[in-house]
Amino acid sequence: MFDYCPVCKSKSFKALGKLNFALPDTYPIASKLTVLQCNKCGFVGSDSLANKDDYNNYYRQITYSSNYTAFDLDDDEIQYLDETIAIIQKHINTDDKILDIGCGLSHILSGLKNNKYKNLYALDMSKECVNYFKDTYQIDAIVGAVDNIPCNIKPDFIILSHIVEHLFELDKQLQYLKEQLLEGKKIFVEVPDTSRFEEFATNLGELSFFYYTHLLHFDEFHLQNVFEANGFTMLESGKRVRVEKCVKIPSIWAVFSNVDKYVFKCNFNLANKIGVWFDDFDSYIFDDLDNLVKTQKPVYVWGMGMHAHFLLGMTKLKDCNIVALLDKNPDFKGTHICGMEILSSDLLYNATVDDCVFICAQVNQSSMRFYLTETVGFKGEIITI
Ligand SMILES: [Zn+2]
Repeated sequence: MFDYCPVCKSKSFKALGKLNFALPDTYPIASKLTVLQCNKCGFVGSDSLANKDDYNNYYRQITYSSNYTAFDLDDDEIQYLDETIAIIQKHINTDDKILDIGCGLSHILSGLKNNKYKNLYALDMSKECVNYFKDTYQIDAIVGAVDNIPCNIKPDFIILSHIVEHLFELDKQLQYLKEQLLEGKKIFVEVPDTSRFEEFATNLGELSFFYYTHLLHFDEFHLQNVFEANGFTMLESGKRVRVEKCVKIPSIWAVFSNVDKYVFKCNFNLANKIGVWFDDFDSYIFDDLDNLVKTQKPVYVWGMGMHAHFLLGMTKLKDCNIVALLDKNPDFKGTHICGMEILSSDLLYNATVDDCVFICAQVNQSSMRFYLTETVGFKGEIITI
């Protein structure tokens, strides 16, 4: 990814640490990433052997499979959505053309539609998402990407909500967006706030927030810096918490205007902080894991989402006596992690009082525990993250 820095164009980088994920063998992306700092301006990104096409294939095929169903919003999610709409509404008129790039299954456009905005366009690489927008909200939706808007929309306002951190060649993509926007037109951006990961870290630590699809890492300074280095100026910004399906991620948002000005500064605070997190990372993470490795007690690992990929790749969970990897999602059928086939969670009925069930999920954790104790009747040790 990092041929050169998207802020200052330097080709000089230093490795801050390595991330290793245990990914299903069907994922078309690399499992190992190196987190790098730009030696000139301090920008931080994750480099891997996967290229842009690999990631695009991942977003088309894996992120929103047919199993990723629509869900009802809880109160926190509704509040988060209302805040987003309030920020955006300050910068748009009801007849503006508003384009949500990488819309996923986001509710921003449907929220704007409810507030009488008419010219709304959704764009995503996933056909499932595009069809969802058309069918559920009757909103114009197109298959495309941040550097490939396959129609002449000429938006007045672009939404990039939790997209920018995924991008290869951010400078080129911002140049492309500048060509789509008239001078003075605006972009709303929100990204994870890496500088606050320590405040939100569970017992898995700060590094568990470094997802394998997040290639760029931001604090307030560097979000402003990368946009201002590429011909935008910041109008306002703020910090908040993104809420999606019970998962809370500290985030920074900003609204930028398209201008003919290119400036950048240097700052190494975030890079220094991330370097310390890697230096202090302990692959045992918590005492339960230490005990499981020592005793070699049989372990059923349940829930093969992103936390399992992190735990099996970065921690001593892989050195435990794993009996089976389990997930209820039928999309995993026939796929392997670390050479072990992912099997149906029906196998939990085979677990005895002498076994341990390690629940790797955060979302649905309490309902999984309830199912295990009440439905399956499991009486042995349960570990959760
Ligand atoms: Zn740089």
